[in-house]
Amino acid sequence: MINDDKCPKLKLNTLLSSLAADECESICRKLEPVQLNYGEEIHDSKKIIFPLSCALALSSTSIDGDNIALAVIGSEGLSGINNFLSDTPLPGLTTVIIPGMAMQVDYDILRHEVGSDSDFTSRLLSYTQYLLLSISQLSHCNQRHNIVQRVSRTILQLRTIVESDRVPITHEMLAYILGVRREVVTNTTIKLRAEGAISYSRGVIQIQDHSTLTHLSCSCEQLSKTHFENLFHKSLRAQNISLCQQAESAIS
Ligand SMILES: [Zn+2]
Repeated sequence: MINDDKCPKLKLNTLLSSLAADECESICRKLEPVQLNYGEEIHDSKKIIFPLSCALALSSTSIDGDNIALAVIGSEGLSGINNFLSDTPLPGLTTVIIPGMAMQVDYDILRHEVGSDSDFTSRLLSYTQYLLLSISQLSHCNQRHNIVQRVSRTILQLRTIVESDRVPITHEMLAYILGVRREVVTNTTIKLRAEGAISYSRGVIQIQDHSTLTHLSCSCEQLSKTHFENLFHKSLRAQNISLCQQAESAIS
């Protein structure tokens, strides 16, 4: 549910755009736009970032320095959700995998917006549940699905985030997300190109045949989308019912 009277930039972030207009406006006043660059690492654990056109990877790093993405965060949500749960920073790393615009704010400025019955809190709880489901799904995917399925799944996931068949991602960054060597990604994209699913040049993967790519992928991306739609639509339905009840009370 996106209201026309909201800040145009906030409409680009699903979590923000799903808020009621007055709460959205209150939060909007505290946010500042920021350009995030390719490969940039977010070290400030207190920073809350709402991606608009960029994508971030929340990664786990082993003691040996090996890296694997736990979740990819795009314009459907935010990074820094741990601040709303605990004072203890989460281990791991947040990296910009697709450059672009975001809205950001320090948690200490935004914490007063989190009340027990606020619309924003309800969205944060739904988004936390979605993230837990996504991390579980990704863990399952990494153990059970082959590299062709995983690379295809990741390209489809990024396509959803950028809302385009032109996905600006390098082999190096795909390898980083998937926790594999770059050569593994290069060999896999050669196979996907031979199947006619994608083409590739200068840091951009172009999806040539969406149905072939979907066929080569596992079903994890679709499951993740379903989780998100179920959680947020359920939350929005509850909000609509509440608004209707308020309207009825005001009339009677
Ligand atoms: Zn999978």
